[in-house]
Amino acid sequence: MGVLSMKGGDGEHSYANNSEGQKRLASDAKPVVVETVKELIVKMDFPGCVKVADLGCSSGENTLLVMSEIVNTIITSYQQKGKNLPEINCCLNDLPDNDFNTTFKLVPAFHKLLKMDVKGKCFISGVPGSFYTRLFPSKSLHFVHSSLCLHWLSKVPEGLEDNKKNVYLRSPCPPSVYKSYLSQFKNDFSLFLKMRADETVSNGRMALTFVGRKALDPLSQDCFQNWSSISDSLLDLVSEGIVKESDVASFNLPFYNPDESEVREVIESEGSFEINNFETIFGLLFSYKTGRTEVKDDDDNNLDQSCQFEVIRKRTSIIRSITEPMLAAHFGDAIMDRLFERYTYHLSQRYDTLRNKPTVQFFVSLTRK
Ligand code: SAH
Repeated sequence: MGVLSMKGGDGEHSYANNSEGQKRLASDAKPVVVETVKELIVKMDFPGCVKVADLGCSSGENTLLVMSEIVNTIITSYQQKGKNLPEINCCLNDLPDNDFNTTFKLVPAFHKLLKMDVKGKCFISGVPGSFYTRLFPSKSLHFVHSSLCLHWLSKVPEGLEDNKKNVYLRSPCPPSVYKSYLSQFKNDFSLFLKMRADETVSNGRMALTFVGRKALDPLSQDCFQNWSSISDSLLDLVSEGIVKESDVASFNLPFYNPDESEVREVIESEGSFEINNFETIFGLLFSYKTGRTEVKDDDDNNLDQSCQFEVIRKRTSIIRSITEPMLAAHFGDAIMDRLFERYTYHLSQRYDTLRNKPTVQFFVSLTRK
């Protein structure tokens, strides 16, 4: 598979500098995460060691903000009952290519966010590896958090030979392409649940947020706007003679945005987890700070032209921070600037259909049976 990782470091196109929308999403999920951790601790009768994991932590501060909420919730829960603090193990997982160092450098700042000094009690570790494999010892995890990851597949599905001019599903495309994507998602998500089922203690909890779709028709326009513009931009570079047509034909994204029924079906047929809560959240991923005004997907109707341009540039930056390592591994670094110039252009062409189109995400809370 290509290199699936967000862009590391802290430069202009880095994930660390382009993930405000993701941060906002995590902060929206916070009340539920806090509640879940509280319940869990009472149910487990205040264990002496609590082990929590953030799967797909990426690089930058987001994962540590989530962890600080979790650790603060643990501290409060124990204090309120007059119990001694447990040892807390915070495991940050991502693929081996992830830039863990950018996150580790922020650990001192993480400790400042905590309600009390827990040095010697709270241990942070990095866990490199795919969450579609075993990552932790059997029955060791109490709480698993994962934000905006499970739409990434373990690999590009097989059987996409006929999907020559697109990097993802798009209308029109042969039904076999949709079937290949769906079947890869089902296998992967089921494997994810099975691995976590082995690793979590009984009654352990998971809080998962990921990109989905609301339309039942997977080929409806809403489902792949960002990716259609990547396809169009690559085809422009083919006409300009700087990218080979065969390279576009052989590139597909290891991504799938399921609908609710597809997700429920996998959870139910895998069988290890019970669904506590299944929510659909609209539109927060692409919220932008334009410098003048805060713009959200659903309220950027009245932007003047230059502000609109800023929004489009920002959206390009976000998509670049997410896809550049993958695209560069296949097409080479040299074309990246040109590719994303074209991307900005195509987004601006589609601006009217894009604005007001929220990104659909699912928030799913599960308990190990
Ligand atoms: N949770 C972070 C990052 C989301 S970006 C946030 O909310 O800001 C998605 C992350 O998932 C990326 O860092 C990517 O490398 C990671 N990821 C994708 N597939 C993965 C896999 N199979 N195993 C572990 N991490 C994975």
